[in-house]
Amino acid sequence: MMFRTHLVFAFLFGLIINSFFSVGNVYLFMIFVLFAAGLPDIDHPGSKYGRKLGIISKAINFVLGHRGIFHSLFFALLLSVIVWYFNQTIGYGIFAGYLSHLIGDGLSKEGINLLYPFTKLEIKGFLRVGGIVENILFIFLLGLSFYVVIF
Ligand SMILES: [Zn+2]
Repeated sequence: MMFRTHLVFAFLFGLIINSFFSVGNVYLFMIFVLFAAGLPDIDHPGSKYGRKLGIISKAINFVLGHRGIFHSLFFALLLSVIVWYFNQTIGYGIFAGYLSHLIGDGLSKEGINLLYPFTKLEIKGFLRVGGIVENILFIFLLGLSFYVVIF
C-alpha cells in the first residue's frame, strides 16, 4: 500500500477504534495513529519513513528484509506495550495505526506474515501497490474521511 492510502485508512480505522474503546484524548490518539500508519515501512528504504532514515533504513532492510519483523503483530504489540507503559493514549494510538498498516498490507498481493517470526499466518489480498484499484480505494477512503469529519 502507498503511504497516502495507509494514512487515510489509518485515519478511519482510528476513528472506529475510538468509537468502541476509550482511548483518552482523541486528538493525541489520532496524531499517533497517523504517525504509526507508515511506521512499519521503515524496513523499506524507498518508503516515506525509509527515505528520511537513509542509511538506517537500508541497514534494517539489509538485515531484516522488507515485511519481516516490522510487519509482525508481535512487534506491533511489543512497541505499543512499551509506549503504553509511559502513556496509555499514545500506546493505543501507535497500536491502532500500526495494526491498520498491517491490515492494509494484508490486502496487497504481496501479503504479509502477521505472526512472523514464530509461525506463518500469511494474509494476502488482491491489491497491486500503486495500481488502479488502490488508487480508487484511496479516493474512496479520502472521500469517506471528509464525510466523517464534516457530518
Ligand atoms: Zn508496509
